[in-house]
Amino acid sequence: MTGKAVHFGIAVGPVVVIKPWEAQVKRYRIYNTASEMVRLEQGLYKVKNQLKKLYEKALEEVGQEGAAIFNAHLMLLEDAGFLDSIHTIIQAEKVNAEYAVATTGTHYADMFAGMDDDYMQERGIDVMDVSGRVIRALQGQEELSVTEMEPSIIVAEDLTPGEVMQMDKKKILALVTVRGSANSHTAILAAMMNIPAIVGAELSLGDLQPGKLGIVDGYEGSFVIDATEVELSVAREKIRAQEEEQALLQCMKGKETVTKDGRRIGLLANIGGVQDIAYALENDAEGIGLFRSEFLYLQKDRLPTEEEQLHVYKKALQKMEGKLVTIRTLDIGADKQVDYLELGKEDNPALGFRAIRICLTRKDIFKTQLRALFRAGMHGELAVLYPMITSLSEVLQIKEIAEEVAKELASEGLSYQVPKQGIMIETPAAVMISDELAELVDFFSIGTNDLTQYTLALDRQNERLDAFYDAHHPAVLRMIGMVVENGHRHGIPVGICGELGSDMELTELFLKMGVDELSVSPGNILRLRASIREMSKEEEG
Ligand code: PEP
Ligand code: MG
Repeated sequence: MTGKAVHFGIAVGPVVVIKPWEAQVKRYRIYNTASEMVRLEQGLYKVKNQLKKLYEKALEEVGQEGAAIFNAHLMLLEDAGFLDSIHTIIQAEKVNAEYAVATTGTHYADMFAGMDDDYMQERGIDVMDVSGRVIRALQGQEELSVTEMEPSIIVAEDLTPGEVMQMDKKKILALVTVRGSANSHTAILAAMMNIPAIVGAELSLGDLQPGKLGIVDGYEGSFVIDATEVELSVAREKIRAQEEEQALLQCMKGKETVTKDGRRIGLLANIGGVQDIAYALENDAEGIGLFRSEFLYLQKDRLPTEEEQLHVYKKALQKMEGKLVTIRTLDIGADKQVDYLELGKEDNPALGFRAIRICLTRKDIFKTQLRALFRAGMHGELAVLYPMITSLSEVLQIKEIAEEVAKELASEGLSYQVPKQGIMIETPAAVMISDELAELVDFFSIGTNDLTQYTLALDRQNERLDAFYDAHHPAVLRMIGMVVENGHRHGIPVGICGELGSDMELTELFLKMGVDELSVSPGNILRLRASIREMSKEEEG
């Protein structure tokens, strides 16, 4: 069976199927509605306590961002509309509390599911999660407990973040769900916990027999049940190799990323939000080379306020404890659309109104982000990175706005620190004028994902073009060399933050070109460090 791989890794183990709670709720008549209301209150009280504990556990394990979901669940249990609906059903229909909670939960979830927005659809899952929890409490059921079981592959129609969070990580070999998107909290939690995961698996839960041996391949997005001996031994071999590599790489923690002849290379992490920092630190990232701030905007149904942004950026800096945190300003448009901005549909969105073009047009949005960033600058080693630059005039405009922001903050008496400011080199135009651009900024970061797309005239979202996609195209590689040369001529460092940065076939070439820094997904850091420590100038040739 296949699905969408959302976190890599291989797992072999018995399958545990988690059934949804809806099927288990019975409707029965209640004569004393007052005592049923008391029973409901007791159930709610119990669940609130569970959620508070889960919040604390998540806070410790995955940080504020990952824990926030349980606060949202607590708030739902205090939502007047949600509670009113449950009360009314108990009193008007004279029915049991479980049924009233299930009906209300389903109604709310259906409402969210009908919305034309991935994020809101995911909120439907939250409602089901909380409702299921209240129902289990009312039925006197113990918390969904997988602590007693042997390490297993968890298969479910859908898994709520609550369900994932309360599982004992050591007992989960992999997660497979029929529904769910790569955006879901469940997928995010799986990545943070480093558990192989597949969503959108094409399978029917009814046909699955628990206890059977399964194989999950989180690289390919495949799930095999009743595997043959040959399939099992191939998978076990892959796991062994994976574990061996991981164990060997652990000794790279705390070591410098330095070539045999003493040249230091910065090895940093790419993250999508504060929730990824734990994983970055676990892999000994020397800093954050790319924090894609647009996820903050994508996860909301309105623009994040200055205070909300300040809180997130400050948290990131504090968690990194003095190490560099490079935050890229809003890079939406193309494949990352924010509906509430109502920017309209475009014929060629990748060549359209995106990133810095939006920021320079909607100065209000840009200034709010810069204010938050400059204020956050007080709390650690911050750098700001501007995406999709094609001209000198864009950089000059940015600098003017940045100065305006600093002046405004000063006149308001707010404390701030103007951070280092750099630009993404991800368009051929920026490459060709990198000599002049280098005079205006503090650093360059090469975005090879977009640079490849724009250089090869090849939409990075279009899988039909895979056959034409050449990640090692000499045009792109020469451009990287040119940018490094121009950056260094003006004394500024040059890093790579696109996916090519973790392509180990190119590491040696990048070092030879003089690339100063590689920013990659956290799981690639130790592997790259080990490889760089084996390189030297003579061998670079
Ligand atoms: C890039 O384009 O290489 C890059 C790092 O940014 P993104 O993938 O977010 O466009
Ligand atoms: Mg890009």
